[in-house]
Amino acid sequence: MKIEVQPLVGFDQLLTYGVSEKFISTIKIGCLVQIPLGRRRVLGVVFSLHSSEEIATEKLRFISHLVQQEPVLNQDLIRLSKWISSYYSCSMESVLGAMIPAVVRDGMKAKNEKLIQVSPGLNKVMVSEALNRSPKQKKLFSELDKQRKPVRKTDLVNKLGFSESTIKGLLAKGLASEILEVVNREAYDDDLDFDRVDAEWELTAEQKVASSELIDVLEQKNFGVQVLHGVTGSGKTEVYFEAMEAALNQGGGVLFLVPEVSLAPQTVARLRARFSKMNEQVVVWHSHLSGGERLDAWRNLTTGKARIVVGARSAVFAPINSLRLVIVDEEHELAYKQEDTPRYHGRDVAVYRAMLTRAVCVLGSATPSLETFRNIERKKYSVSRLMNRIDGRKLPLMHIVDMRLDARRERGTPILSQCLIEALRQRHENREQSILFLNRRGFNTTMLCTDCGAVEECKDCSVALTFHRTDGYLRCHLCGFRKVAPVFCTSCKSLEVRRKGHGTQRIEDLVSKLMPRSATVVRVDADMMTKKNLFRETLRDFRRGKIDVLVGTQMIAKGLDFPNVTLVGVIDADLPLRMEDFRASERAFQLLVQVAGRAGRGDRAGEVYVQTYAPHSPSIQFSRKPDIEGFLEEEMEMRRELAYPPFRHLIRHIFRGRSLEKTEFYATEWRKVLDAEPIPGLEAKGPALAPIEKIKGYYRFHLFYLTSSVQESLNHLAKKRAIFPLDNEIHDTLDVDAHQMS
Ligand code: ADP
Ligand code: ZN
Ligand code: ZN
Repeated sequence: MKIEVQPLVGFDQLLTYGVSEKFISTIKIGCLVQIPLGRRRVLGVVFSLHSSEEIATEKLRFISHLVQQEPVLNQDLIRLSKWISSYYSCSMESVLGAMIPAVVRDGMKAKNEKLIQVSPGLNKVMVSEALNRSPKQKKLFSELDKQRKPVRKTDLVNKLGFSESTIKGLLAKGLASEILEVVNREAYDDDLDFDRVDAEWELTAEQKVASSELIDVLEQKNFGVQVLHGVTGSGKTEVYFEAMEAALNQGGGVLFLVPEVSLAPQTVARLRARFSKMNEQVVVWHSHLSGGERLDAWRNLTTGKARIVVGARSAVFAPINSLRLVIVDEEHELAYKQEDTPRYHGRDVAVYRAMLTRAVCVLGSATPSLETFRNIERKKYSVSRLMNRIDGRKLPLMHIVDMRLDARRERGTPILSQCLIEALRQRHENREQSILFLNRRGFNTTMLCTDCGAVEECKDCSVALTFHRTDGYLRCHLCGFRKVAPVFCTSCKSLEVRRKGHGTQRIEDLVSKLMPRSATVVRVDADMMTKKNLFRETLRDFRRGKIDVLVGTQMIAKGLDFPNVTLVGVIDADLPLRMEDFRASERAFQLLVQVAGRAGRGDRAGEVYVQTYAPHSPSIQFSRKPDIEGFLEEEMEMRRELAYPPFRHLIRHIFRGRSLEKTEFYATEWRKVLDAEPIPGLEAKGPALAPIEKIKGYYRFHLFYLTSSVQESLNHLAKKRAIFPLDNEIHDTLDVDAHQMS
């Protein structure tokens, strides 16, 4: 027998090996094997099996080792990996790296843990005599006796405060014994402190209709994509749960994707509460899992012990058997796009995976992406709608604060308007909570007129030009156009043109100063996200009312439900509008709608203050009602005119190098190659200096390709690239369906 193996490192191509007698009966497709490669031994995955005659090779080498009998990838995941590698133009190595966790590759073993229990058949009198003179041991004994089941030794020490020597003493007296057990390490074990988890509701009429629509699709036992378009607070999660239950009853597995797991503790808690009743284990899957947690999650899924996975982007690769339902919550979120190789889009991979396994994919959002909306228009996706908030709660009242007026009054660019400051103080007095949102800053500043709100734009690309302090030029980051920054506004000739921005830190300081001493103001930012416990604790404190004002970027706008929040302020609603991105308007709109959904979720009505220099822009006007479809239709027209996504695919080609001149030179030469013999159906823009000019000492230039057929364009590009003599100090990468423009 011969097999084809995809190495995990070293060689990005299928290689043929022989299989010796001792492995023949056990080897299967998807198994992890060790193979000789050159002078090394590396790991690889078996992609196909052949009887000897099929492939004729002269010097056949044999696999050295079968790492474990159970396959690490099923057939669907193997097919998925091939598609990702070809569509996103990345190596198989990188795809398999993302699919197979390091602990699985390393063949890490399950963890045994020490448990302590009361020894059986003890005589009470003897026990009390033995413990007479050691109160600590006595306390430990009664604790163990009370628990009635073995207790983790680490819990006794860390949580209950017993010392090692006390435990040892009790063991020595024979009153307790130690046992070893394979433990299941589960993430978020201690996170179930949400009071409303146990509540069970009667579904609303709308929820019932949407649920039965999803269940109908599931019953067709075929591939289909259903969009669940529901306003914020309309109860989408309960609808997902109904569909999940149906999928589980059909004997299938469920994948539930959320943009960021640490922002979804409530969803995890609700999932656990609901599905533990059906004796289903919920596996939490995200990038912060420890090796042990990951291995246990993996094992529980591959053995079929668990059938439900909830997780962020990378969970799309979780080894779920007979996948029946894939849910992508907040499908419009940027977090689904991976910005390192392999640069896949989690939502799109989810749809493709569902197609391969003939499962149903549900895309949920209050503000569907234009990509998804286009697929609805083209009847590729069906849609279910939830138009009302639960209990008919009102959407908060949205105040548009025209910052041009405050700017004129204060002769500057104030961070907070007077009316927002007043409102914050008022809430504090009423013992209600507030959230202040700040947009992610543009990496370079753009030119904003504080009189008319106009932003200097590129005439060809209709994206904001960005200002470069180094030479005083305004540049377009799509096509490379540049001009000297004007000293007055080109639309209204005002001299009040400014280039300003502010970070969360400054806002926290400012708000602390403006609020009464007794108010607690806390900031959450990207750094905090990496310390997951700190972040979770902050959210918990906020939920428990220990924080009055929470200041943060849009990441805290997602999916959180804080009943006591009655005021939401958006500091600078047009910052994304001023960024060098054609999706800026869409982003601003999504942010406003999501943010507005954060206020007034409890019994009290909420208010939203949106500070802007462009009060008449569509993203602000449409978010006010909100009129989601109105916005999508208008924005769709804009995209259609420019033939931007979703009308064509956008591929970003990045050149990186230590020398600015050299990097620019090769990017320009490459453009010449493209122009010499244009690729049919591909429009190229650039090269241009990237908005983030330099990362870790590497300068960056990029080109953009707009095309109707990714696969065809990639083939053409690959052919040209193979004979393009790129200096080996310059590196290039493709980003298919690029979202990040910076
Ligand atoms: P969405 O995801 O659509 O913004 P959620 O699913 O988070 O909304 O639900 C909003 C709130 O309404 C949650 O607090 C949820 O617990 C509650 N909820 C959901 N369905 C019902 C129902 N049928 N009756 C009462 N409350 C509900
Ligand atoms: Zn102006
Ligand atoms: Zn341009």
